Amino acid sequence: LERERLAASGGPGRTADDHPVKLLLNIGSAADLRPNCEGVGLFRTEFLFLDRRQAPGFEEQVAAYAEVFAATGHVVVRTLDAGTDKPLPFLGLPAEPNPALGVRGLRVDRVLPAVLDTQLDAIAEAARVTGTAPWVMAPMVTTVAEAAGFAGRARSRGITRVGVMVEVPAAALQARELLAEVDFLSIGTNDLSQYTFAADRQHSGLADLLDPRQPALLRLIAMCAEAGRAAGKPVGVCGEAAGDPLLAPILVGLGVTSLSMAAVRVPAVRDELARHTLDECRRLAGG
Ligand code: PEP
Ligand code: MG
Repeated sequence: LERERLAASGGPGRTADDHPVKLLLNIGSAADLRPNCEGVGLFRTEFLFLDRRQAPGFEEQVAAYAEVFAATGHVVVRTLDAGTDKPLPFLGLPAEPNPALGVRGLRVDRVLPAVLDTQLDAIAEAARVTGTAPWVMAPMVTTVAEAAGFAGRARSRGITRVGVMVEVPAAALQARELLAEVDFLSIGTNDLSQYTFAADRQHSGLADLLDPRQPALLRLIAMCAEAGRAAGKPVGVCGEAAGDPLLAPILVGLGVTSLSMAAVRVPAVRDELARHTLDECRRLAGG
């Protein structure tokens, strides 16, 4: 059945010489699910928390996560990524002079640990009631200690596949050490570009500086992919770059194992990958 569904949808991601590349979806809720992919590579959970006076409770979170887990085989859930471009008033965090460099992503856990505790409890419970094993990852991880702390909190609840997003250059530079603590990496090229090039991701006047084709960013991605290969662990990309048909073969040539994108991007990326052998992808990546 799974094979029929995939065939109808265009089939799994492959290079011309049949090297598999998982094509996954970025979603914000169950409403974004589509059948044209091999699962969900980034389930952004912010939607549940937006426009709220109070954090959503345990039961409400379980229901929202279970709806997605039940509908798809493979899901990577990202814990709450609040701050900067995603401000959440109910958290009551003080205004900061430099919010992109402040308390955001996993760093919110420093001041409000109950938010992550409840969310991990709800994810574990949704996995239990649906009989699924979602992968869980944290945003904006900077140090190995943060990754280890997050992994411990998730595993203590029975979550078996724990990962971190690589969105900060420091994380890419320590990809090997991070993979000693976690099971997978997911590269968020939107933020990794912002922090590598010191250019606000929302600043249209700096678009050239944010272009992920720049060698500095590709080198950071290559470091992550190489660490993943050495450890035998998956390293995906879930930023906008993953849905760019011109970049997808380059990312695959660098060694990335999955690409996660908005549903509308999947067919073009699938077609482009099918046009290149893995060796051609490596050449495009400069290897
Ligand atoms: C990213 O930063 O590339 C990413 C996928 O996360 P978001 O766009 O939600 O910050
Ligand atoms: Mg991000």
